Amino acid sequence: MSPPEHIEALKRPAQVCAVCGAPLESLAKHPSRLVEDGGGAARQDFCPACQAEARAGEYHSRWVALRPAPAPPPRRETRKAQAARLRDEFYRLADQPEPSEDDRDSLYLLAHLLMKTGGFRWRETRPDDGTLVFEDQTTKQMVEVPTVPLDPARLTAAQARLSELL
Ligand SMILES: [Zn+2]
Repeated sequence: MSPPEHIEALKRPAQVCAVCGAPLESLAKHPSRLVEDGGGAARQDFCPACQAEARAGEYHSRWVALRPAPAPPPRRETRKAQAARLRDEFYRLADQPEPSEDDRDSLYLLAHLLMKTGGFRWRETRPDDGTLVFEDQTTKQMVEVPTVPLDPARLTAAQARLSELL
């Protein structure tokens, strides 16, 4: 269950100052407060120039919001570990006599992700049934992946299933 929308809105700082509209995103910290808003509480965020306004009038609470810089891009080691996780999951799903429709979608997606992260190299697409043939760069073995109908909803669901590996 997701929290009610107004709680969600409270957690998210605004992109601009409530008074002057200055962008807040690049600031490491800025004043914020909760004010009464038609029976509920509304969050207001202020740029440093509008600090006085943040203290003016009535409010429930006031604090300094910290906006940490975005996380640095993943290091190579992390990407390698991710590729290894994807590869493990691919072979786990491939190791069954008749993969379900869901597993076939996952295998199709995993093969393409592995192509990006460097584990698999595409070699051919069989003209008769569209089966994709990849070479596993680690083992140099050929891996066959049945083609799946490109249904966006099904591929989105497959992506959600694999999201914890990404
Ligand atoms: Zn301002």
